[in-house]
Amino acid sequence: AARVRVRDLVVRFGATTAVDHLDLDLEPGSFTALLGPSGCGKSTTLGVLAGLQHPDAGTVTVDDRSVLESPPEQRPVGLVLQKPLLFPHLDVARNIGFGLRMAGVPRSRERAEVADMVQRVRLEGLGPRRPHELSGGQEQRVALARALLRRPRVLLLDEPFSQLDPELRVEMRTLVRRLHDELGVTTLFVTHDREEAVDVADRVVLLDRGRVVGGGTPEEVYTRP
Ligand code: ADP
Ligand code: ADP
Repeated sequence: AARVRVRDLVVRFGATTAVDHLDLDLEPGSFTALLGPSGCGKSTTLGVLAGLQHPDAGTVTVDDRSVLESPPEQRPVGLVLQKPLLFPHLDVARNIGFGLRMAGVPRSRERAEVADMVQRVRLEGLGPRRPHELSGGQEQRVALARALLRRPRVLLLDEPFSQLDPELRVEMRTLVRRLHDELGVTTLFVTHDREEAVDVADRVVLLDRGRVVGGGTPEEVYTRP
């Protein structure tokens, strides 16, 4: 599992400072929930880690190697967003295997890896379906499988289940926790749901206005007077 270090990260959009000298540490194999009010810089921080957003200042290392110069597809990082953003014209298996296909991996290996991941996320039998034939929970399972297919060392989740109903959310976070445990992937989970964070994470980091304003185990963070 990978150690992630973010130091003195700054991201500005014009006059708005979205991320304001942020420091963040993710221990190898840890599961961290990132919480804070809307607009506090959670998505921007994930965007920097994923390589979708270039910072104005700061460093990001994965296992002591800087990743800021690496393009998104070369980073050992998987990303799941609130909306699954699947290719509508590709079936489930092709959506999951897309990254390997782009990387020029032989078809036989793609099939084997996709089949393994389909099982892990419990989508057995749904490989030939198109995204529009799936439920919201199934779509997010596809997005998870796609994000994990290349065995990233870091998994980033940006409110992945906030559009699902409460029962399904519980089921999905249990699935994410199990995948984290099985694959040993260092995980950063953005949520605004405190109960979700307490249920799934080992550590909680609180952001406000682009800065870290608290952190610790869920018990420490939520039982302090
Ligand atoms: P969160 O994920 O915590 O809701 P964001 O990271 O999305 O917060 O946004 C942090 C701040 O940066 C907000 O003030 C938001 O309006 C601003 N912001 C985010 N992305 C952009 C963008 N592409 N252009 C301009 N401002 C942005
Ligand atoms: P094509 O001839 O268009 O390359 P294939 O014969 O390779 O299509 O695949 C046909 C079907 O097999 C797909 O539509 C999909 O349902 C299934 N499939 C494709 N890729 C995979 C995969 N990686 N793992 C499991 N099933 C797959």
